[in-house]
Amino acid sequence: MAKLAENITTEPEAEPKLAEATGFVGKNDGMVSTNCECCMMPLTKDTGQRTSEQYCSFCYQNGRLNAEGASLQEFQRRCFDGMRGRGMNFLIAWFFSFLIRFAPYWKARKARK
Ligand SMILES: [Zn+2]
Repeated sequence: MAKLAENITTEPEAEPKLAEATGFVGKNDGMVSTNCECCMMPLTKDTGQRTSEQYCSFCYQNGRLNAEGASLQEFQRRCFDGMRGRGMNFLIAWFFSFLIRFAPYWKARKARK
């Protein structure tokens, strides 16, 4: 798990992104997304080595999605811990974790059940 947290790239100006993230919810029905479809992180903020058009470098590694095999709650916890590990404000980190449930990937997974 520690390795996963390290892979969440540093995002110095994460807090101003809050408003942007808020606006993102609700307009993502089939629209072209500039956020990771799994964790909702803005892809422009992804400083890692991204190998997918849809997912950030944290979510998609070695040809597979990080979230496969994890429950939404587990994945949220990973992201939350990662953000907290980067020194993000508790509420901001909580809010971003909360947003994950609205990501296209999780919507699709929910629909599959
Ligand atoms: Zn992601």
